[in-house]
Amino acid sequence: MIGCNLAYTRGVSSPEAPPPPADRPAEAPLAPDTLVVSAGRPARRHDAPVNPPIVVSSTFHGSGQVVDGDRAYGRYSNPSWDPFEEALAGLEGSELPGLLYASGLAAASAALSLVPHGGVLVIPRHAYQGVLVMAAELAAAGRFELRYVDVAETDQVIAALVGADLLWLESPTNPLLEIADLPTLVRAAKQLNPAALVIVDNTFATPLLQRPLEHGADVVLHSVTKYLAGHSDVILGALVTPDPGLRERLLHHRSIHGGIAGPFEAWLALRGLRTLAVRIERSQATAGLLAQRLNEHPAVRSVRYPGLAADPGHARAAAQMGGFGSVLGFEPVGGAAAADALVGRLRLWTPATSLGGVESLIERRRRHANEPETVPEALLRLSVGIENAEDLWTDLRQSLENSQTR
Ligand SMILES: *Cc1c(COP(=O)(O)O)cnc(C)c1O
Repeated sequence: MIGCNLAYTRGVSSPEAPPPPADRPAEAPLAPDTLVVSAGRPARRHDAPVNPPIVVSSTFHGSGQVVDGDRAYGRYSNPSWDPFEEALAGLEGSELPGLLYASGLAAASAALSLVPHGGVLVIPRHAYQGVLVMAAELAAAGRFELRYVDVAETDQVIAALVGADLLWLESPTNPLLEIADLPTLVRAAKQLNPAALVIVDNTFATPLLQRPLEHGADVVLHSVTKYLAGHSDVILGALVTPDPGLRERLLHHRSIHGGIAGPFEAWLALRGLRTLAVRIERSQATAGLLAQRLNEHPAVRSVRYPGLAADPGHARAAAQMGGFGSVLGFEPVGGAAAADALVGRLRLWTPATSLGGVESLIERRRRHANEPETVPEALLRLSVGIENAEDLWTDLRQSLENSQTR
């Protein structure tokens, strides 16, 4: 089976990995699949709760003077954010806590504030639609200059980096699952301009499969809405940076622009994070299986999944990721009409946008008016959930085979 190896998750599920030493030193860092469960817990004291509380307070007792680091007011800080922010930072490999935002796009808005006024932003042609719309609107208003690139074309990206202030990367990209060469592009951006920043939207991979900070990226962005929270019941975003100055600027932006998380949403996200490793292990294994079977099916024109050996992103993904993720795309024979009809015949897959939840979702991306025309009309994006793999395949197959006989 392809794509089911959480290579970053030391000690489990990797047939190639050396067996873990019998006696790991007690101070050895915890593996990511432990961290998702153990990080952000209250201190171990007799009768202390196992889970952090939800703190609903808009203001906090002061000591008479405002001291740096005081919670002070609920737009600056809330104890309900801290456990998730610590856990995510640990997973992404940052010493500094992450920053939660009201949504992935609120986090993107804060991240784009790092581009200097009149500066140059290099951005993928294919990426999360809301980010592309936000960047295009800001550029049209004169905020900065935009340069679009195909992230998989390393030379093209490097050429666009001359004079650039910020390189925005998404890998794998939405919805074509193109893979950017993260180490090469980060190195090139820094060589050309040591002050240039690199931001990686790590939503599709999650820190269990890819850790951009280890490749030198400055900031990692998550739509926590997707895999991290994982149950399609909350909208949240996050940024992580190991750079104290950048974190200070981002924290200031959040405090002043106010794109903050609600305490209940933050608690839900932490609750979802606890099962991230097992959810990904399961959904990724199924995604690999479905990609292979779709690839062999006569009613399928093409499949996009970096876990397939023939996929253009395969070698790069295998080199820089711990697995190929749980999103895949395919084009059925017969174009957009056939794709829409196919979706209409599905009984188990839910036709809906979004991804990263426990339930499997399917969507023809070009039904969105804003989707770039370079995305094929018939492309269906599948977010594979944690249902039984054979049930998911049976539903897809009956739908594909009905379409052939019509
Ligand atoms: C969903 C998504 C976003 C936006 O996040 P919201 O939580 O919906 O605001 C950004 N990037 C990617 C890759 C996404 O999938």
